[in-house]
Amino acid sequence: MNMAKKFFIETFGCQMNELDSEKIAGSLRHGGMEPTREPAGADVIILNTCSVREKAVQKAYARLGEIKHHKKQRDEVVVGVVGCMAQLEGEKILARAPFVSVLAGPQKSHAIPGLVAEATATRRAAIDLRMDEDPEPLETSHVLRENPWRAGITISEGCNRKCSFCVVPFTRGKERNRESANILREVHALVDQGYVEVVLLGQTVNSYRDPFRREITFARLLEQLAKIDGLRRIRFTSPHPNDFSDELVEVIDACPTVCNHVHMPVQSGSTRVLRAMRRGYSRRKYLDTVNRIKAARRPIAISADIIVGFPGEEEEDFQDTISLIDEVQYDSVFSFKYSPRPSTPALRLPGEVPDEEKGRRLSFLQERQKLIQYNINASYMGRVEEILVDERARARFSLCGRTSNNKIVNFDGPESLLGRFAMVEITGFSANSLKGRLKG
Ligand code: SAM
Repeated sequence: MNMAKKFFIETFGCQMNELDSEKIAGSLRHGGMEPTREPAGADVIILNTCSVREKAVQKAYARLGEIKHHKKQRDEVVVGVVGCMAQLEGEKILARAPFVSVLAGPQKSHAIPGLVAEATATRRAAIDLRMDEDPEPLETSHVLRENPWRAGITISEGCNRKCSFCVVPFTRGKERNRESANILREVHALVDQGYVEVVLLGQTVNSYRDPFRREITFARLLEQLAKIDGLRRIRFTSPHPNDFSDELVEVIDACPTVCNHVHMPVQSGSTRVLRAMRRGYSRRKYLDTVNRIKAARRPIAISADIIVGFPGEEEEDFQDTISLIDEVQYDSVFSFKYSPRPSTPALRLPGEVPDEEKGRRLSFLQERQKLIQYNINASYMGRVEEILVDERARARFSLCGRTSNNKIVNFDGPESLLGRFAMVEITGFSANSLKGRLKG
């Protein structure tokens, strides 16, 4: 019997990386291989990596150290490092881990089967780290999705912004937008397969414009997607505050299919630091955007990314960030210590903040934010919320799902509810989640 070869993919980083892994898995399966959940026994092991912070790179190297023994046990195993860290580190990876035989950047998901075949045939490293000079079409024929009811959809790739801390433009290249007709076709097909939620993905997702029909902005695209029968929820990540038009707020307001949650990275509450970060907005301008969103007729939850300890950030700047979170009352915040990244302009900035101080600021901010979330979540007590039931819960409650505004709700219920909508009465809360009781 001819047993199909097996591949194992491990993903680091963002939702975009998760979708890239699903695309890689789809193209490998199309080539006749089968996925496996364990690296042991896999013929192909792929790490799809992140490089946004140094820690992510260290994590991938540490994992490579663990993967090495699979290669030692079976020399024919192909080990690949793909994605942002591969793009950034390039052949340095081969110097540190000579057993790696496939290297490819995030623009090359579709090329992985060919690179695996090449590495297998030649027993030498197959490398494709080219960027931009041959922009690949953003259409993907094969995606092996992990979740049967929620699907990530690429609407744009790359980033034209030049935030001084960020490595993404160097790893994912310039912004390229997909044709809206193709996005609509893909979402229609997903709904036909039973998907109820889509997550539109792009580095600055709301700067989207159809490459040929320029009148189709992100807001118009959302509006068209919201009309698809059977599609219950649309999410998107991450928008840039400067591209958050009034038109976009109006569409969110008018289309309940568009979830009432906006994740809008702010990075800092200090205009001085925002200028050094080259974010293109001031604290005032960001707050104006938040206020326009909050003025929508239906309440919209807001979350953000924040970096502490950016070069030159003084205590006063940090306190501006604290007063910003107090003012906005974010539903959640992802906060990070600034991590110097290769090639980025921030590397040359004076005023490095010692790691210990970054740690202090991070803990302070996280404690403050926890209190804000605790108070927001307390206000849900007794409310009845519609949940898309997502997964088996980790703790005592058997199921877990999300509200439209992205609150995690744990509750007891039958597994048959997975992938379905349920009404749940909120009976308890913590800073990070709600608990509830199934209604009816
Ligand atoms: N494109 C989005 C934006 O900037 O609006 C998000 C991109 S990034 C993958 C996700 C988050 O990582 C950023 O919003 C930022 O808070 C954080 N980040 C990016 N570069 C960083 C760095 N050098 N050090 C620490 N955090 C960083």
